[in-house]
Amino acid sequence: MTCKDCDKSIDSHQYKTSMESLGIHLCDRHSRLIKKVILDNNTPLEAIHLFYALKEAGAHPMLEWWDGKRSVDIAISRVKLNIEIDKDYNMITHEQAINDLEDAMHSFKNGFTTIRIPHLAIKYYLEETVQNILGIISGLKANIKAI
Ligand SMILES: [Zn+2]
Repeated sequence: MTCKDCDKSIDSHQYKTSMESLGIHLCDRHSRLIKKVILDNNTPLEAIHLFYALKEAGAHPMLEWWDGKRSVDIAISRVKLNIEIDKDYNMITHEQAINDLEDAMHSFKNGFTTIRIPHLAIKYYLEETVQNILGIISGLKANIKAI
């Protein structure tokens, strides 16, 4: 058993502890780091799962990336892609909805593409979600070349 982040070997107790709290097998140090990120940013667990799946797929994601105005759940900086995880559609207020759209507009003006992914897609279709994001990344790369 190894840490999903640094490949350091971990014992079965650490494996169990991190799987129970985070749903990802991490060493003690990385468990603490991720828990701090979650506490500081209110990061949904699905963002953590997607981050590690994208990392494994070679997409070089960044977790809770500060864009100068706010923290983005996951960013793929080389293609200027921001990924936000929608926690619960039923919980969204009308102010939140228009703020989200406004944020997307501002980042678009700065050359960033923002996609919002419902947490349920990550929870139930992690592999397909990753494949679709990889497709978006290669599409963005092609567009960057075209300019
Ligand atoms: Zn580690």
